[in-house]
Amino acid sequence: MSITGSDTMILKNYINGEWKSSSSRRSLEVPNPATDELLTKVPVSTKEDVNLAVSAAKAAFAIWKRVPVPKRARLLFKYHTLLTDHHAELAKLIVRENGKAYKEAYGEVQRGIECVEFAAGAPTLMMGETLSGIAEEIDSEMFRYPLGVVGGITPFNFPMMVPLWMFPLAVACGNTFVLKPSERTPILANRLAELFSEAGAPPGVLNVVHGAHDVVNGLLEHKDIAAISFVGSQAVAKFVYERAAAEGKRVQALSGAKNHHIVMPDADMDKAVQHIISSTFGSAGQRCMACSAVVVVGENERFIQALKKKADDLIIGNGMDDEVLLTPVIRREHREKVLSYIEKGIGEGAELIRDGRREIHEHPHGNFLGPTIFDRVTPEMTIAKDEIFAPVLSLLRAKDLDEGLEFIRKSRYGNGATIYTNNAGAIRQFREEADAGMLGINVGVPATMAFFPFSGWKDSFYGDLHVNGKDGVNFYTRKKMITSRFES
Ligand code: NAD
Repeated sequence: MSITGSDTMILKNYINGEWKSSSSRRSLEVPNPATDELLTKVPVSTKEDVNLAVSAAKAAFAIWKRVPVPKRARLLFKYHTLLTDHHAELAKLIVRENGKAYKEAYGEVQRGIECVEFAAGAPTLMMGETLSGIAEEIDSEMFRYPLGVVGGITPFNFPMMVPLWMFPLAVACGNTFVLKPSERTPILANRLAELFSEAGAPPGVLNVVHGAHDVVNGLLEHKDIAAISFVGSQAVAKFVYERAAAEGKRVQALSGAKNHHIVMPDADMDKAVQHIISSTFGSAGQRCMACSAVVVVGENERFIQALKKKADDLIIGNGMDDEVLLTPVIRREHREKVLSYIEKGIGEGAELIRDGRREIHEHPHGNFLGPTIFDRVTPEMTIAKDEIFAPVLSLLRAKDLDEGLEFIRKSRYGNGATIYTNNAGAIRQFREEADAGMLGINVGVPATMAFFPFSGWKDSFYGDLHVNGKDGVNFYTRKKMITSRFES
């Protein structure tokens, strides 16, 4: 079986340990964003396909939940070894379907492997609590149990890391899983399932159903799905959260972002420029932790000129080439949307100090767009408010830190924020007052590691228990309390 389905040129679903063609006749093309080369087609699966996967997962759950926790953890250890052995191959697959640079993809695989590492600690993570003597001759114990079948819906920008935020921990906690990967980057999901099976995952424990809205709706409506983990754009996250909650499911929905970086006058300018360039333009700005708005505190022309110069020097191209930092955006239609944002920025009076549209004609194949920087953006402008998800940066001017923090407060999003400074007072004020869930102090991408929660605030997250860390364990388990009387 070829994971790209090149025998038929249409990817298969993975259900109950078997590769199964979708019952749908509809499919979508999956091109390489850097070359336009057709990689494969992905089926637009139906609710019937979802039903098959959920039935398989439900049957597998009845057995899997009884497998002793250390034995479940051993599956994760084996998976860890396999993923590590295939690190470079997985990174290359990411570059082909997502377009990001190989170095970024390699790092993404590493982040994914770390989630498996964390999940392999299930015997410790799943421990309950006890208290002897809550009353005369009475003790209390708390045990953790899995929920049942969990549905995971993932975005295009991290085809490895985001699915691995979900199913390794869910499965280690005793749940079974149905994954709906992004239809724009579906190939890696099949390879992840293949390796999971090679590691010894029993049939039905992990299932993959490819497609779009119908699969998502099928999962949200299915009575045998106990919980939904979602990562994607804001409007869809809110819809998924509301719909799944209305169906009585547990849900965590990670959403869009607009991450502000504050540059204080005392910052180490060279380092700030370097971090901001790689945070803004790495992965073509298509990271939920990407910097998309810089707040320049005070007059700081030197910083702005240095930033522009570095942007001019960026090498644009195919992510497989070593020197390249700026890679294509995911689809031609997405670039069209970004171009309309650039027009909007100009129309609303922002100053376009670096126009990335000029690089488009130099790259006739692929969805390239050069680094684009707007200066004198105000918080009311559309380009300051919306997530553009592209190599487009807004510079906002603030007279002091208070005003910079006010800009962050005004944003509907609260995924991440960073400050560049060495001033202890400014750092503390930023830590206490910045209205976002993941803060960086002189760090360009303050994404958390697998043992901490990925902790977006405001419209960047719907739900209460985040992915990863103890939150993840709480999300994928439910508690049972036992109160026992021991009469002497
Ligand atoms: P997207 O919302 O387009 O798609 C995400 C998933 O939802 C996909 O599987 C897709 O098939 C499905 N989907 C899309 N539209 C739908 C609809 N109308 N009804 C039902 N299902 C639908 O997101 P994307 O473009 O793939 O990913 C980028 C977005 O994800 C950005 O907004 C980014 O900030 C966000 N993201 C957030 C985090 C985080 O941790 N907060 C992490 C990664 C990505």
